[in-house]
Amino acid sequence: VSDAAAPLTVRGAVLDGVTVGLRCEDGRIAALGPEVEPLPGDETIEAAAAPLVAPLLNGHTHAAMTLFRGSGGDLPLLPWLQEKVWPVEKRLDAEDVYWGTRLACAEMIRSGTTRFWDMYWFPQEVARAVEDAGLRATVGAPLFDADGDAEGLRESARTSLEQLEGCGPAIRPSLAPHSIYTVSEDSLRWVGELSRERRAPVHIHLSETEREVEDCLRDHGMRPAFYLDRLGLLGKQTLLAHGVWLDRAELELIAERGGTVVANPVANMKLAVGGVLPYPAAREAGVAVGLGTDGAGSNDSLDLLADLKAFALAQKQAAGDAGAIAGDEAWAIAAGGRAPLLGAGEPLKVGAAADFLLLDPRAPELAIGELTSNLVYAASGAVVDTTVVAGRVLMRGGRLPGLEEIVERAVERARRLGLT
Ligand SMILES: [Zn+2]
Repeated sequence: VSDAAAPLTVRGAVLDGVTVGLRCEDGRIAALGPEVEPLPGDETIEAAAAPLVAPLLNGHTHAAMTLFRGSGGDLPLLPWLQEKVWPVEKRLDAEDVYWGTRLACAEMIRSGTTRFWDMYWFPQEVARAVEDAGLRATVGAPLFDADGDAEGLRESARTSLEQLEGCGPAIRPSLAPHSIYTVSEDSLRWVGELSRERRAPVHIHLSETEREVEDCLRDHGMRPAFYLDRLGLLGKQTLLAHGVWLDRAELELIAERGGTVVANPVANMKLAVGGVLPYPAAREAGVAVGLGTDGAGSNDSLDLLADLKAFALAQKQAAGDAGAIAGDEAWAIAAGGRAPLLGAGEPLKVGAAADFLLLDPRAPELAIGELTSNLVYAASGAVVDTTVVAGRVLMRGGRLPGLEEIVERAVERARRLGLT
């Protein structure tokens, strides 16, 4: 990671229709407004009327699974995991995860995501890749004890938490029990206790398939959200990825406990889980909602802007109502603005973290009509021109330094694993 960035001033950007300057110092926005000009010694960006917007937040992914891209074989969830993923993951090493994550970070920087929630093996390598890339992430080791090894799970949870707690401010440690069907009841309860003791958020897949719900009813006599709650695992620090099959009572319970649900519409559609997170009901219940891509093994893209369109369309289609979600509401969800747990920065203002995007002022998709609507329905991540995190320019003019090496090294790792 490079040293603290020199002060940066952006001139001539357009924020909410007004031409402004933005000055960053020590990772924060020091000045913002029509009169702002660079001071001597500032790094300066001439934005040439580029729209200035807050960055996107990917609420659920397995970043290093870029290595698995294109090898899914059009299978449903469980056979895909059992046949294509888990056998290969047994052979993963630290360098595989580092370069797979670097590739994911490169894709996220290029498409405007600056913060993400990750669940993957070798989490200390994930953290190293995130720090080297200049992004921010909440990182956790996936916890499993389907093989009966509860002691192994505890060891992995404690060790990874300790390693991650030693990282810099860009990394937030978390506990990531994989799901209620791969982690035992006792271990889930233990994870809840550790989470409270260490103040670490819990990141878990929940209610992704109908079978998961049926099995939970059969084995525990209740639906998944109630089961988690009984184990002390549903609270303000809980992120539930998917939530496709949550019913109204579960949504009300999650809202009451202050939990967050992250929709992953594209991964859900690709694996044909048969539904979408019932967003209008979640909104009505008052559930905090975010948006994720899931891993590139199941999506296969990490372009959250593309998934934002899919999210809005799936909601409209499922509800039979074009007004099921408004464009600016969808945009707020993708920026993390409807789920405080996810950790999005404050809106762009003096004192907020200097994390922002400049969009390509020449992008035809943005030339006519309302910007937010165009971002949701017309644009892809390709409209992102410049990505800045903590006042550091990670990409300028659509060019990401070091991209060639990152792609090369990731391809080498995928080849080593027999994935390409
Ligand atoms: Zn996932």
